[in-house]
Parts: sequence; structure tokens; C-alpha cells
Amino acid sequence: MEISIKGLTRDFYSQGKRIRALDHVDLTIPANQIFTLLGPSGCGKTTLLRCIVGLEMPDEGEISIGGEVVWSRERNIFLPPEKRGLGMVFQTYAIWPHMNVFDNVAYPLQNRKVPRQEIRNRVAKVLRFVQLEGFEKRAATDLSGGQQQRVALARALVAEPKVILFDEPLSNLDAKLRESTRKELRRFLTELNITAVYVTHDRLEALTLSDQIAVMRSGRIVEIGDPKKIYFNSDHRFVADFIGRANLVPGKVRSVENSHAVLDSTVGPIIALNSQGISAGCEAMACVRPEFIKILPAGAAEGSNCFRGKVESLLFIGESYEGEVRIGETLLTLVVEPAADIREGDEIGVFFHPDHCFLLSE
Ligand code: ADP
Ligand code: MG
Repeated sequence: MEISIKGLTRDFYSQGKRIRALDHVDLTIPANQIFTLLGPSGCGKTTLLRCIVGLEMPDEGEISIGGEVVWSRERNIFLPPEKRGLGMVFQTYAIWPHMNVFDNVAYPLQNRKVPRQEIRNRVAKVLRFVQLEGFEKRAATDLSGGQQQRVALARALVAEPKVILFDEPLSNLDAKLRESTRKELRRFLTELNITAVYVTHDRLEALTLSDQIAVMRSGRIVEIGDPKKIYFNSDHRFVADFIGRANLVPGKVRSVENSHAVLDSTVGPIIALNSQGISAGCEAMACVRPEFIKILPAGAAEGSNCFRGKVESLLFIGESYEGEVRIGETLLTLVVEPAADIREGDEIGVFFHPDHCFLLSE
């Protein structure tokens, strides 16, 4: 089911001050995709999700789910949450501690007076799906964090919703479990072929789980794209910076040719992708991801996008070193393989491919 949001605005008032949690949000969430709302804490993700579910009342705008208007100020429409055909998984799971796994999962059906045999069948089916077969009688609180998470998922799925919504569902899990649950969730959601709206502030979750990512800031959608577009060739500085580590090298566009442009930057001329078509003479920035910077012997640093500099720092981070190389006044961060034979203070060359850096306009 497609979700369509138009001009959605929501204000809160705190100590006499207005907080605009959603600022005229226009958004189409395509059917049967994993769609992520990504952004820093406080940018309005939860508020937007709660408006879609019907737990929060917007001030202005319109929301449709599968072509049906579920909320509209102008037309005075409000469809209550239970009539919207949605399933939701919260950060805290909202599992009932005094109930066993079966009752937790069956709850949404018991509430709707579904016949007992059908409840049993549907709970069995959904528990099989989340790989919790045989856990029916267990107290929900005796389960591990990851298992509780799957109970919450099963409960959200048992009524066979048309759309499932998640609000930071992995944030209470430890790092290792979060990683495996992320993969599992991706598999579950892909198999289900359901519209999933996923809220997170974690860029890795967004990149690994999503078909599309909408990056939010201060109540607005800044940019929408698939994970690779957002990571490799974003249109906004805020997005490029938020989604991963980024070297942003300022300069002025010297010339433009087809898909690329030459930027006279603080490290010298950089050839970079110019998807936005920034014109010659404009101020711009080249964005270079640390993992795309190659190290060369200082003497071999000749040709386009090759620069010479001095290793300012090398920080051991386990699987690699995080290095900083100084080129004039500019510091570039790069990934240094453990086997690389370089030290702080060394003169080195660096190179990045023109297709592996891109121009941003502000
Ligand atoms: P996110 O989920 O992205 O962290 P939220 O949607 O929870 O952001 O909040 C967006 C903004 O609205 C924040 O500034 C938050 O403080 C404010 N806000 C959210 N809910 C309320 C509320 N019930 N009362 C007052 N302010 C709120
Ligand atoms: Mg939130």
C-alpha cells in the first residue's frame, strides 16, 4: 500500500514556545518497499510515524494510505488507528511482561474477537515465520532482547497488516545483536513483500535495510534516494555528512564537462562528479569518502586527483587505521590498511578517482 503525505505540519508548545516538529512534509512512500526515515534525534521522525499510525493529530495537511484519506484537516477526516490496517513495532517493544509469548502475539486478534482456532493457526504461522516456534508458553520476560524483538514483530504481523511501521526497533539491543537482527529483519521484510516504514537515527541501519531513505532535518525531508545514491552522490551537504564520514574540500568550479567538473580547491584542482550541474564560477565543495582515498608513494603522486601531503596522525581502530594527511591547510581523513608501511610524519601521495568524489553546492 502506498502512503501519501501532503503538507503535513505539527506544532508542539513547550513553555510558551512553539516547536515545529513537522514542517509541511510532502512524501510518497511506495508500496512494498522498505522505506526509512533517517535523521538526528528531535528531527520529527517519531512524530511523522505517529501521525501515519493515527496516534498523533497533525495541525495541517493530508494523509492517505492505499488511496484512502485517513486524515485531512480540510475535509475533517480522521480514521482511528485500529481502522488503518497497520502494524507497529516500538523501540521498547511494548511486550506485556505478565503474558506468555502466545498471549502477547495473539492479543491483537483476541481484541478483534477472531475465533479461537483461527487465532491458534495464525499465531503458530507467525511464530514459525519469526523462528520462535515452541516458545508459545514461555514468559515473554524470560526471552533474550533479540527474541523479545521478534515477539514484537510477530505481534505486529499477526493481524496481517498492509503496512508495518518501526520506530527505532533495534536501539535497545547491544551492538552485536543489533547487527544480526538487522540482517534478519531485512530478510523477514523482503519475504513479506509488505510496505515497511522504518524510523532510525542509525545510518548503518538505514543503509543496510532500506530500499529508499528519506533524510530528515528540523521537521523537513531534505533528500530521498536509494542507499547508494544517498551515500555516493548525495545532493546536500547535511546528508553527505550525516550518512557517513566525509572529507568536504571547498573551492570554486573552474570548468564543467559533461558529468564532471574541475574544482579549484584548497588541495589543488579536483575532478569530481557534478550531478547537480553546478556552473563554472560557483563556490562548491568536493565530497570524498575516506575509504576511496588511495595511498601512493610520494614520488608517484602525479596526474589528476593526485596530491602530496604529510601524514599528520594514524589512529588504530581495530580493522584498520584512521589516518589524517595534511595537504597545505587542508586535512583529509583516510582509511589506512594495517599492512600499509607508513608512519606519522611520512610524505605520501594520495589519489581518488573522479567518479568517487562528488560536488556539493553548499
Ligand atoms: P525524533 O523521533 O526524530 O527524535 P520527535 O518526533 O520525537 O523526533 O520530536 C520532534 C520535535 O518535537 C522535538 O523537538 C521534540 O522535542 C518535540 N516533541 C515531540 N513530542 C512532543 C510533545 N508531546 N510535546 C512537546 N514537544 C514534543
Ligand atoms: Mg523518535
